[in-house]
Amino acid sequence: MEKMPVLFIGHGSPMNAIEDSTITRQWKMLGKYIPRPKAILSISAHWYADGTYVQNLEQPRQIYDMYGFPVQLYEIKYPVAGNVLLSKRVQELLGTEVSVNNSWGIDHGTWSVLVHLYPEHDIPVVQLSVESSLTPQEQFAIGQELQLLRSEGILILGSGNIVHNLGMVDWDNSGGFPWADYFDKWVQESIVEKDVKQLFQYKKQQYGGYAVPTPDHLVPLFYCLGAVEATQYDLRIINDVRVLGSMSMTSYLFTDKK
Ligand code: ZN
Repeated sequence: MEKMPVLFIGHGSPMNAIEDSTITRQWKMLGKYIPRPKAILSISAHWYADGTYVQNLEQPRQIYDMYGFPVQLYEIKYPVAGNVLLSKRVQELLGTEVSVNNSWGIDHGTWSVLVHLYPEHDIPVVQLSVESSLTPQEQFAIGQELQLLRSEGILILGSGNIVHNLGMVDWDNSGGFPWADYFDKWVQESIVEKDVKQLFQYKKQQYGGYAVPTPDHLVPLFYCLGAVEATQYDLRIINDVRVLGSMSMTSYLFTDKK
């Protein structure tokens, strides 16, 4: 079987779930472009937890883990099945590093994107938490351990944002502040050059403190990079834009070289 790609999506505002924009149209196209997965392992910035947890319910619940948005957003239904077999595989691959935990659900980091990628909600989804106490290297290593899933028809989806500073959001800004552009570009160059070690040092990078005031939205990228480590991949860069001043929508699709 052909190896599945790995996808990192910059999800941005939850409003993207109900908006038709150049950004969400790209997500729709991705859903048609990527070979149809058997199931999705979603690593969402919004399950930023004190451990590495995996869900294993046959019918996980959708959660509305965002506040103060228009009512239409809370009416979006994405009723998707879980996948007990995928959960078991994750436990086999990660061993004692992971435990089953169903206290969370399918969060908006996952469903606000998947409503566009797979609007039929007919591909099972399992979420894996982002473990907050791990170093970038350790998060990357978990991605490495998950690599085999790609040969088993599983799409590994990291959902976050490279630049994500809610405290500095400017609703009147349709682009990015210069520091946001700078940092996003630096990450992009590091990915293109496959310089993961440099990326691990993001805090020391100029504007790192502005772009990544808290690591939650960036670190799903490290899991994704681990899942493609040491493979020859083609890179597609999608939605290479900054919005609201302090958020980047830049997304990466890593596809194995044929
Ligand atoms: Zn988010």
